[in-house]
Amino acid sequence: MNRVRLLVLNAALGPLDYRVPDGMDVKPGSVVLAPLGPRQISGIVWEADRLPATTVPDERLRPLLGLLPVPAIRAELRRLVEWTADYYCAPLAAVARMVLSSGGALKGGATTTEYRLTGKGPDRMTPQREQALARLAGEQATIRELAGIAGVSEGVLRGLVSQGVLEAVEVDCDRPYPPPRPDFAEPTLNPGQQAAAARFVAAVRAAEFAPFLLDGVTGSGKTEVYFEAVAQALRMGRQVLVLVPEIALTEAFLRRFESRFGAPPVLWHSSLKSTERRRAWRAIASGTAHVVVGARSALFLPYRALGLIVVDEAHEVSFKQDEGVRYNARDVAVMRARFESLPVILASATPALESLQMASSGVYERIDLPDRYGGAQLPAIGVVDLRAQPPERGHWLAPALVDAMHERLDRGEQTLLFLNRRGYAPLTLCRHCGYRFQCPNCSAWLVEHRLSQRLACHHCGHETAPPATCPECGEPDCMVACGPGVERIADEVAQIVPAARVAIATSDTLGSPEKAAAFIAAAEAGLIDVIVGTQLVTKGFHFPDLTLVGVVDADLGLEGGDLRAAERTYQQVAQVAGRAGRGAKPGEVLIQTRHPEAPVIAALASGERDAFYEAEAQGRAQAGAPPYGRWAAIIVSSEDEAEARDAARAIGGARPDLPDVAILGPAPAPLALLRGRYRYRLLINARRSARLQDIIRQWLDPFRFPASVRIAIDIDPYSFV
Ligand code: ADP
Ligand code: ZN
Repeated sequence: MNRVRLLVLNAALGPLDYRVPDGMDVKPGSVVLAPLGPRQISGIVWEADRLPATTVPDERLRPLLGLLPVPAIRAELRRLVEWTADYYCAPLAAVARMVLSSGGALKGGATTTEYRLTGKGPDRMTPQREQALARLAGEQATIRELAGIAGVSEGVLRGLVSQGVLEAVEVDCDRPYPPPRPDFAEPTLNPGQQAAAARFVAAVRAAEFAPFLLDGVTGSGKTEVYFEAVAQALRMGRQVLVLVPEIALTEAFLRRFESRFGAPPVLWHSSLKSTERRRAWRAIASGTAHVVVGARSALFLPYRALGLIVVDEAHEVSFKQDEGVRYNARDVAVMRARFESLPVILASATPALESLQMASSGVYERIDLPDRYGGAQLPAIGVVDLRAQPPERGHWLAPALVDAMHERLDRGEQTLLFLNRRGYAPLTLCRHCGYRFQCPNCSAWLVEHRLSQRLACHHCGHETAPPATCPECGEPDCMVACGPGVERIADEVAQIVPAARVAIATSDTLGSPEKAAAFIAAAEAGLIDVIVGTQLVTKGFHFPDLTLVGVVDADLGLEGGDLRAAERTYQQVAQVAGRAGRGAKPGEVLIQTRHPEAPVIAALASGERDAFYEAEAQGRAQAGAPPYGRWAAIIVSSEDEAEARDAARAIGGARPDLPDVAILGPAPAPLALLRGRYRYRLLINARRSARLQDIIRQWLDPFRFPASVRIAIDIDPYSFV
């Protein structure tokens, strides 16, 4: 009897056993199709002794239906799936879904029908057809995807197909990507860069687990240096994964990659079209995708022969996923490198305290690039005390910053104003009755966006048009904006210097690769004088004429008071400061603050990074916070407030009493209502010695809540809202 155990992609089911029909060649890792009732499900054949046993007797087992036409999932990746599920207290199936993350790819080689404009006009123009023609220029995709792009129904497009306005094209789903060439345009490295690159190249050649912290100041050439490790992997025929925090800012990176290697890398992120996703997945599995640049989900793809992982801007919090499987891609990347025996490079100018600690304890090898490339100097950093020299009433830019901006404009140089707040104002209220616009689904204010004339919730996406009269008291024209967002700062700049060409750079304005490319081109061509941007512009960009950076409100990040607030502020300000003076002209940074005496501001002004990190580390050690102790959160939510509260209290009432674990809560979460669900939190602080995950599993295991109650476990949380 040939019996196998499947990990199926449905977390509610658990492992299932099947019979292997004669002649079917199945081994651990095989991706198969199996019957489930009247349905068919896909799953991965797993080592039976590594999954909980099932009780179905042999004679009642149903046979597998077939092998899916994809390579078997390798043992190294199976171990990573197990490790991730275990460490983050997540269902195995949920992690396995991130491996088999393209439904299309599992169906095997095929062609698909895409459509594109022929250039012929329709018999009769309608507004919808006109819109479709305008938006579909240069696009080729399935009807469904084109309908999304054009913002019209599929019916409208089918009408255009029958008139010959759109034509069908058969495309091979898996046409190969052009290979990057390691010797295409080799840079001349300076001695410091050479030494670093040599170390990485040797590690790639050795093909052993080797974690590195590449700690180099902004503009030191970290990218150039790890590109040499990429080149070495390519020479050996191995694949490379470069994880990036935000796919929105990869545009500049892609161009650099292409000029170094003569071909673009393969992209992986959540908004790929299904056909692109399928093509990328299959190329990754077959080994013909040589270099993959991706968001965190690229980490779980089934690379055939990985040779190197790079985590760029490794300190970024966006590597932590805050829903579903709540994993930290930076940490899982290191585990993947370990299971696959690979070097992994964490690159950053402002490493996370956790990474620095791993380096100083000798677990990671630290490679330093202390100087900017080409003799460029790090910018001078000044502090503007907003208490001593406040901006004019109703304004947000202090005189010193305004003067410095004028100077840059006179010299034809660029200014970047950084404020990590999208929209015009974070709060809108009625001047007459004090009514505040709040999201109906979240405990959050609605943010006014003047450019798009919406009030929007940044948590759930809820949007409304700003009403003409107050919904509470009926007073017309009574809405006042409170506090600044980037749009308001841009208005202020336009008021102060009407001639300045101002660009707003946020995910609202640079949301697509085309828009990002257009912005970069305009900034490089000197068509922008002042950039007003969110954290989206704090990294990756290199504008030689940008010589002034103004941090509009350095205190903003410190308000939340979570354990990484100071570190995050340091990182953000240091990164955005790193945009200044990257060319021949020296840069200047002005930090506006109401707390010039705060240690993080003082450290930024004096450039004493090490002292700041040391003080932070001490504070964390005293608080038992990471990396010296560990945190975990349990978030209980329900659409019914009483149900959420009762469930949270029941869990709190059963809390284990252990010497190396402290449990806080339950308490309403700071974001007590999110997307229509009421939320309660318990926070667990444990010594490093505690078996945190086992404790939580044992604690929660006896509970059976109705499906309307959701229990989320967040190990090593980054978000405390
Ligand atoms: P980082 O990632 O450390 O901020 P980058 O890799 O972006 O630094 O390098 C900063 C700038 O210096 C880039 O424009 C890069 O092309 C240039 N640069 C760095 N090293 C070299 C080199 N060896 N040869 C030519 N240009 C270099
Ligand atoms: Zn909301």
